[in-house]
Amino acid sequence: MDFRLSEEQQIAVDAFRRFLDEEIRPAVARYDDTFIPKDDMRQLLKQLLQYGMGNGLASEDDGGMALDPVTFGLLFEQLARVSPDLGIVVLIQEESGLLLRAGSDEIKQQYLAPLLEGDKFGSIGISEPGAGSNIVEISCKAKPDGDDFLISGEKTWISSGHYSDFNICVARVNDDPAAGLALFLVDRDDGYESQNIPKMALNRQSTAQLFFDEVRVPAERVLFPAGEGLKRLLTLLEGSRPMVGLMSVGISQAALDYSIEYAKDRKQHGKPIAAHQLIQARVAEMAVKLEASRLMLYKALDQVGRGQRSDFQSGMAKYFATEAAIEITRHAMAIHGGNGVTREFPIEELYRMAPILTVTEGTPEMQKLIIGRTLLGVPAF
Ligand SMILES: Cc1cc2nc3c(=O)[nH]c(=O)nc-3n(C[C@H](O)[C@H](O)[C@H](O)COP(=O)(O)OP(=O)(O)OC[C@H]3O[C@@H](n4cnc5c(N)ncnc54)[C@H](O)[C@@H]3O)c2cc1C
Repeated sequence: MDFRLSEEQQIAVDAFRRFLDEEIRPAVARYDDTFIPKDDMRQLLKQLLQYGMGNGLASEDDGGMALDPVTFGLLFEQLARVSPDLGIVVLIQEESGLLLRAGSDEIKQQYLAPLLEGDKFGSIGISEPGAGSNIVEISCKAKPDGDDFLISGEKTWISSGHYSDFNICVARVNDDPAAGLALFLVDRDDGYESQNIPKMALNRQSTAQLFFDEVRVPAERVLFPAGEGLKRLLTLLEGSRPMVGLMSVGISQAALDYSIEYAKDRKQHGKPIAAHQLIQARVAEMAVKLEASRLMLYKALDQVGRGQRSDFQSGMAKYFATEAAIEITRHAMAIHGGNGVTREFPIEELYRMAPILTVTEGTPEMQKLIIGRTLLGVPAF
């Protein structure tokens, strides 16, 4: 076991950190917590591509950088430290790219190539108003009609949904709960509508409802047919849950960095608050939880990179890291005193961001149920 970064990884991380602090942080700050318009988001995304953010996991044949998941994660964590909003957009681009790999040459040319160039935005439509934690309750229908399918239903909480030029939509072609689900590539021009959902934080990017009303999709755009759809989704989640966890690590690292700086500067009772034992206890707790999160997440990504099944490790790591970020940002807020709750300081926003990541790509309860199923050998859901 070697926990050191290779020389190439260290150089890439250092260069990306500098770029993020000099270019991306000030660019994102201009939007406060308001929606970044699509053209502006495209420009930001295009700037990130040179570091493999949005095209990192795709193969070189497809036009990607073919980074292994650990190396991608090391860079992605840095992005999340500066902008979790951009992290979400990048993650969805990457996930869309991984699913498009199954498409025909024509699909790769029309959708994957522009996705990897940052010209098209992808999105993934699993969740519905009536189906969240339990994917097999999806009711969005795909009805065969000649050589096409007609898709009808509603999707909700879809990241990048309002930006999306296409949606990889999970829809039901028959009544079998699991085997009836297929994945369709639906173009915006096919006719789905979107509406953005305001949230407690992470509003610079889009989380949206999507509406499908008998949207006609040709059979060539079935990416995964019934019987294969759910399996592919679950494998995708094994790789992407640790990335969501790394977004929490980015938030936690930012909270710790600001807290250390603040504690050294702020004086009470005749000395910097950093010199008070109870402040040191908070900082120590933050650092321990952050380090544990990181180690668990990179172990999960290492397994993903080796092609091993990792639902157990990814579930543990995602659960731990996203919950830890809530505790870490709470400590950060306490260390900042009154300044922790003002908009003048970055802590209150980190504190609002942290809980959101516990929900996306599977709640803590669902991760615990996956962990329990592995250990006990009986599913409880
Ligand atoms: C910011 C954000 C981005 C998202 N992006 C996407 C996206 O791009 N694409 C997409 O398809 N979805 C997306 N989602 C949706 C996300 O995956 C769901 O919100 C999540 O899976 C939970 O579903 P739900 O909100 O319907 O909650 P529910 O499933 O209704 O759960 C409500 C509560 O009940 C608990 N619960 C449910 N079942 C059980 C059980 N068996 N035992 C114990 N407790 C249980 C849950 O843990 C939770 O606490 C996103 C969500 C957010 C917040």
